[in-house]
Order: sequence, then C-alpha cells, then structure tokens
Amino acid sequence: ASLILWFRRDLRLSDHPMLTAAAATGRPLIPVFLHDEVVESHGAAPRWRLGLAVESFAARLEDRTGLRLVLRRGRALEVLRGLVRETEAAGVWWTRLYDPDAIRRDKEVKSELKADGVEARSFPGHLLFEPWTVETGTGGYYRVYTPMWKAVRGRDPGPPEAAPGRLRPPDRWPDPDRLDDWAMGADMNRGARVVAGHVRVGEEAAQGALGAFVAHRIADYGAARDLPAVEGTSGLSENLTYGEIGPRTCWAAGRRAMEEGKADAETFLKELVWREFAYHLVYHTPRLVSGNWREEWDAFPWSEDEDSAEVTAWKQGRTGMEFVDAAMREMYVTGRMHNRGRMIVASYLTKHLMAHWRIGQRWFETHLTDWDPASNALGWQWSAGSGPDATPYFRVFNPETQVERFDRDGTYRRRWIAEGQARPPATALAYFDAIPRSWGLSTDMAYPSPVVGATEGRERALAAYGARGS
Ligand code: FAD
Repeated sequence: ASLILWFRRDLRLSDHPMLTAAAATGRPLIPVFLHDEVVESHGAAPRWRLGLAVESFAARLEDRTGLRLVLRRGRALEVLRGLVRETEAAGVWWTRLYDPDAIRRDKEVKSELKADGVEARSFPGHLLFEPWTVETGTGGYYRVYTPMWKAVRGRDPGPPEAAPGRLRPPDRWPDPDRLDDWAMGADMNRGARVVAGHVRVGEEAAQGALGAFVAHRIADYGAARDLPAVEGTSGLSENLTYGEIGPRTCWAAGRRAMEEGKADAETFLKELVWREFAYHLVYHTPRLVSGNWREEWDAFPWSEDEDSAEVTAWKQGRTGMEFVDAAMREMYVTGRMHNRGRMIVASYLTKHLMAHWRIGQRWFETHLTDWDPASNALGWQWSAGSGPDATPYFRVFNPETQVERFDRDGTYRRRWIAEGQARPPATALAYFDAIPRSWGLSTDMAYPSPVVGATEGRERALAAYGARGS
C-alpha cells in the first residue's frame, strides 16, 4: 500500500531521512504539501517566500524522482484524512518540527491518524540533534548557549543522505490544487516587484551558495560576518528555514573546511548551533515564542502601542539613527537584514524606545523572507534582555558607537539611505519602491533628526530598568 509523504519545512531531496526511508520501502509514494492552519498564520513575506519554495521543490521532485507534489488546502488533519481515504494509503510520514504551532498540529494529526489505523510516523531532519538528545550533566535542557555548544561540538550528526533516484508513483494521482490559486503572495505587495531580486530559491541554488561560501568566504568569516556592508556570511537562513538545504549538509561542509585548515570554519558551526539552541529552547520552553522567557520581565513597563510615533518611525526606517534606519530599509528591499543590524534595531526598539519586543518580533515576522519561529523569538528575547542567555538589559547598544565599529566608512548607510545623497544608489532608491504608498515618503524629504537620541534613550531605559527593582 502507498505512503503519503507530507512535506512542510523540508523542501529538498538530499539530507532527508524521511524521504530516504520512504524510498527504501519500494512502496508507491504520494508527496503532498498542505496550505494548512500553520501556513495560514504566516506573515506576508514568509508566506510569499514559501510559495516560491513549494514551486521550486515541486519542479525538482518531478524532474528527479518522477513524483508529483500534490497540493491541498485546509485543516491538516481533515485534508490528510481525506487523502488517506481517496488514495487508500497505509501511512502518512513527515519530518518533525519543534515550534508550538507545529507541535500542536502534528500531535493531533499523529494521534487521530493512529486511531484510524494509519501508520503516522515522524522523522528527524530539520535539526542536527533532536532537542531531547542534548542534555546537561544533570539531565536538564540548556539555558545557556556556550555549554550547549561544548556539549555538541564534537558530536557527529551523521552523514547527509544522497538524493533518491526515480521513485514509485501511485497507480492514480489525486487531483491537486493549483499553487496560483493559493495566492501566497497576496499580502506581499513589495514581493514580486522588489524583493524577488534578492531571494535565492530551491535546493540547487542553496547548495551552490553553500559551495561558494565554503570556497571563498568561510576562511574570513570570523571577522567579515560582523560587517553589514560586506557579503561575509553564508546567506543560507532563507534556505534552512524552508528546508531547501539540510543542516547536516551545512555542518559537513563546515567540518571539511576545518579539516582543510580554514580556522574560521568553526565559527560557522557555532552559528549553526545557535539555530539548534533556538529550537532546543523552543521545544523545552514553548513560551519563548509568545511571552517573556524570564517571567520577572512581565512587570517591565514595555510600551505595547504598535502605532506610537516612535514605533512608526522605527518601522519606517526613519528614527534618525542611521544604522537603525539603514537596517530597517535593508529588510524592506531584500527581505533580510544583516545580523548586526538585527541586534541594533532590536536593541533600539526595546531599550531606546522601550517598546515591547513582541512588536518587533511581529514586524520581522511580516517582513523577513528568512523568518524562523525559533530564531526570531530567541533573537528578540536575547536582544530585549528577557530571554535565556540574553544580553543584560543594561548593555544598551549605542547605535552611534556601533556605526564606528561596524560601518566606519559609511558604505552600509549610503547603500540604504537616499536622503542627503546627490546621487543615491539603486538600493537606497529601491526602498521607496518597496514601502506602501500610504506612508507618504519620498526621496526629496529631509532625513529626520533622531526620535530618541542615543544618550537620552539609554538613560531612560536604564532608569526604567533600575526602577523595576531586580
Ligand atoms: P550565517 O552567518 O551564514 O550563519 C549560518 C546559519 O546559522 C544561518 O543561516 C542561521 O541558520 C544560523 N544562525 C546564525 N546566527 C544565528 C542566530 N543568532 N540565531 C539563530 N541562528 C543563527 N535567523 C533566522 O533564520 N530567522 C529569523 O527570523 C531571525 N530573526 C532574528 C531576529 C533578531 C532580533 C536577531 C538578533 C537575530 C535573528 N536571526 C534570525 C538570527 C540571524 O540574524 C540570522 O540567522 C542570520 O543573520 C542569517 O544570515 P546568514 O544565513 O547569512 O547567517
């Protein structure tokens, strides 16, 4: 009897334990992708980017294995039950996910399908190490990154599996939905117009990017990764989040580079373990995605006003702090933001503007093409000071000093801020194409003076922190 392979954030053929196991059975296989309740809840940019990922994966799957990707829309459990009935499949297999929305859905699907007598089975593949296999000396989970890194750095996640060849199709294909009918880019006005020039979609492109990074950039990664004007990082986050490349493939490439004597390669492995750490924490403490991880922060006077003048200036890249604004504009145009920028804009929002990190988390969730439920939540709570292993709240990033350290010659700021430049580059002008017209901004407006100055904001934040009494 046939097997339904339910693809989610694992849109690749290689480094894929579930697909490899399914291929080995020799049974007819029915790959499906569902526009279900979890996809429905995605922000505009992640949903748009996911649509591109699905399109690319469907083409590659058919080309390499001969199988089609059956698309269906609706609540996961109901759609899967319907498909089982239609195809008389004996099982539904998938790759595990670890964020609370996915876990809630998958638990229900697993128990209900099992009760129906269907073989519901989940596999590893999204992470290097399953969250429950990484334990502290006393058997708990890690709340601090460095000890977790030490615990896994010498562990072998195993070699990534090769992509399968031709696979056995079912006798009859279920009728699929059409991807276009899902209109996954409907809320992403700037998508096809601006951001499309900055995405790198699909397994083949991701593997190419990893190869180029390891060949040309990994040796200088340690220093270059901190400079937002330099293309010093792998850029693989958008591929990792949709599973267009597997983490073990990245890990293996990093290890090989280390063996070839490229010392900075270990820093790349460390960053991959930050991703693991985020999932480890989200799995063990699901509240990481929705509320202060350290509950004593519930008493902190964060502003929850999403539309205050200050927060609006932050969203629009018009705080008057050049580093903050450059980074916010970079996200508009490219769908991504350099990690240094993410840390600076998050610090500015939660400290200088004293706005709740949840406002920033949601804004990123709407605008990032590499949005990841665990890394985004950890990044925000880390920056705000409310999270595990967070920067202490009193370590307020000074956006002006950060400029001197990480963008001394102004390349990054000039790339993204048009105002004040006689001949702004295309990147800076593209921002005005990307933003909604309703914001009423144009290139001939003067660059704003700071909504909250570097020193003033720092003092206000520290006073509130002191008054909080812990
Ligand atoms: P590289 O430097 O090439 O790193 C390789 C891989 O390691 C990345 O692709 C990513 O998977 C992982 N990684 C690197 N840094 C981190 C980190 N700090 N935390 C977790 N994983 C990491 N990352 C996302 O993938 N999605 C998000 O939604 C996201 N939101 C963030 C929000 C804030 C406020 C902050 C401070 C960080 C956030 N990050 C997020 C982490 C980080 O900024 C990005 O992973 C990184 O910039 C991606 O670029 P890259 O692929 O070139 O990374």
